Amino acid sequence: MEQRDFEPLYVRCGEKPRASQNNIMYASIIIDISHEKLDRVFQYRIPDGMLSHLRIGMQVKIPFGGGNTLRTGYVVDLTDQADYEESKIKEIAQIVERSVPIESQLIALAAWMRRNYGGTMNQALKTVIPVKHKERLQQKRTVELAISDMAEAKDLLAQLQRKHSTARVRLLEALLENGSIDYEVVTKKLNITAAVLRAMEAQGVLRIRSEDRYRNPVSHLTKKEYDLVLNEEQQAVVDAIDGDFQAGMYGNYLIQGVTGSGKTEVYMELIARAARQGRASIVLIPEIALTFQTVMRFYNRFGDRVSILHSRLSQGERYDQFVRAKNGELDVMIGPRSALFTPFSNLGYIIIDEEHESSYKSETVPRYHARETAMERGRMAGASVVMGSATPSLESSYRAQQRQIKRFYLTGRAKRESQLPICHVVDLREELKSGNRSILSLQLQDLMEDRLKHQEQIMLFLNRRGMAGFVSCRECGEAIKCPHCDVSLSLHAGGKLKCHYCGYEMPQVTRCPSCGSKYIGGFRAGTQKIEEVVKQRFPGARVLRMDQDSTRAKDSYEKILSAFANEEADILIGTQMIVKGHDFPKVTLVGILAADLSLHASDYRAAERTFQLLTQAAGRAGRGERAGEVVIQSYQPDHYAVQTAKVQDYGQFYEQELAYRELMCYPPVWNLLLILISSPQEAQAQACSRSLGDWLQKHCRELRMIGPTSANVAKVNDIYRQVIYLKSEDHEALVRAKDGLEAVLLQGPWRQTNVQFDFNPMNGF
Ligand code: ADP
Ligand code: ZN
Ligand code: ZN
Repeated sequence: MEQRDFEPLYVRCGEKPRASQNNIMYASIIIDISHEKLDRVFQYRIPDGMLSHLRIGMQVKIPFGGGNTLRTGYVVDLTDQADYEESKIKEIAQIVERSVPIESQLIALAAWMRRNYGGTMNQALKTVIPVKHKERLQQKRTVELAISDMAEAKDLLAQLQRKHSTARVRLLEALLENGSIDYEVVTKKLNITAAVLRAMEAQGVLRIRSEDRYRNPVSHLTKKEYDLVLNEEQQAVVDAIDGDFQAGMYGNYLIQGVTGSGKTEVYMELIARAARQGRASIVLIPEIALTFQTVMRFYNRFGDRVSILHSRLSQGERYDQFVRAKNGELDVMIGPRSALFTPFSNLGYIIIDEEHESSYKSETVPRYHARETAMERGRMAGASVVMGSATPSLESSYRAQQRQIKRFYLTGRAKRESQLPICHVVDLREELKSGNRSILSLQLQDLMEDRLKHQEQIMLFLNRRGMAGFVSCRECGEAIKCPHCDVSLSLHAGGKLKCHYCGYEMPQVTRCPSCGSKYIGGFRAGTQKIEEVVKQRFPGARVLRMDQDSTRAKDSYEKILSAFANEEADILIGTQMIVKGHDFPKVTLVGILAADLSLHASDYRAAERTFQLLTQAAGRAGRGERAGEVVIQSYQPDHYAVQTAKVQDYGQFYEQELAYRELMCYPPVWNLLLILISSPQEAQAQACSRSLGDWLQKHCRELRMIGPTSANVAKVNDIYRQVIYLKSEDHEALVRAKDGLEAVLLQGPWRQTNVQFDFNPMNGF
């Protein structure tokens, strides 16, 4: 099969555009990218003879403003169409001749993203280039002796002693001893006033030096010795990938390794080898797995040469980390999706851990996928991309099968004593028939009893918070809905009904708003309900609960996990949040309470997500010396996602799932473009989507179109949502359709309507 959405679709950095090369006459240029002013793109004519030298991302000199002063700009696009009146367009003066700097590469990447994911160039640039905020850099000031002649200094000291200038004597003595001292120490510990310092500086006795100090988010950690020897499997993977790297063959790799097989150690070894050659690496981790433990492992190995980006850093701190990366102070940057844009000019590796995670897909425009974008950046920069997962995405597996990605396997757990768990599936329908109405099956209850007796730990895992706990009328069947969104409200402790989309809250109703019946209720279990049931059944057990409600406060996520790791509780109940990050060697039982809730989610990735969740949750059991057991409770125990997760058979799951995707023409076999049209006016949303649908029918006949129709969640926060789905085997055909629609939207009467594009969407709407 030919390479499909995998080819660089636009231009590589430093490459010429492919399409209609002959007609290109104009360049879109941004003037200043170092400050907040990313907002405008200006068009310039390309003078005769320059086109063959011009590339996207290049710096050029252009006449600007009334006086036509020459300013520096960056080329962000090359086109054949003038956006302004031809006579008003000025010409580019010259190309700035020097090596392509890192900004150029990132601008070229932004251009690629704009083209492949939609939106404006400004939106793409803002995603890719860190915006400098006015926050001042912290300064590090030191006080140092300005007299180099020791005899002279001693004379001065004697003079001051005679004059009883005690403060100056104290400072001079300290400086004679240390050479230079931190400014803070001088003012706070030695109690020298700023006035005295200025006077002595004026006398030529000392100098006050100041340099920028970039905030370092890991400066509080202390480094430990690193002494781990890779096992044979790990070493083989490192040798293969590093072998290519040393030979200058940069590629895309997938490490498929069971949970605990030591993928992180493989990443670190690759990074260390690249660092020895002055090549820096980016490590992407889902935000939820970016825990203290993970950061500590990297810190122990790389010390101050590692930095992190996470959502709790201030804008200023984030910016500082980018500056440190650019200045060559770092070998490794760890962070979620956005760390992909760390401006390393000497990039060696981009690592994507847990590459199947949906958080790698941006939910704001441009809706890029970090995995594809990483591969494009790797290609531009001459870097290798290494992805890892126990349950790779269908996309990556498919590409590995097509030999577009090289795949390696890690089959055993790295710590010899830890084993894969034993897995039981309980049929909840049978459970109900036999009279057990509890959310805990009898088998799970028995095993829990046993673990509590042996003082071992238990994790109970519930799928997706938003899917449980809705309230409905038993007479007319109406579910209580949010007045602003087209979703059911969920019941929370204290009898409140809450909307998980907009945060709307109301008290629990006592009568059905639609028929007046008082038979209201019948909710399924949320995490809070499970906590109650567990506490009732096992009154002596110490229980912790982790979900979005209990982790709203800063750091509480980390606190709950550490408390559990320190064995301050016997049972941890949670949503998918508890599946990642920490290693709990004392956990020997994992209960998955309603395995198939996510199977009901109305999108084509439901089975994949269920399989991933079940496998990852099961992987939590038996990380220590004792083998673990897993109980999967399900209403659809025969579903292949449940059955294959039970035996941890990824290959079999992949085959069945791919057959389904092929049959239904879904990604990764086909390509899907979701067009999301939203407006506060329902009629407007409908008219716009109809009009776009008509345009597509006329101009893109070769595409399969579903819709226009209202979205699954047809209203969020009083905004009405319409969707159109386009399918094609040819990714480029979808990109062309998007380009066409963007042009239509610019001209048409739809400026009030928000239209977004989502290629191969990860989440349903
Ligand atoms: P993964 O990233 O595949 O889940 P990790 O790298 O976290 O696996 O490894 C799981 C555990 O095994 C960690 O505690 C790690 O320190 C340990 N480990 C990994 N490789 C080795 C090795 N070669 N020798 C001993 N312990 C190892
Ligand atoms: Zn009713
Ligand atoms: Zn709502």
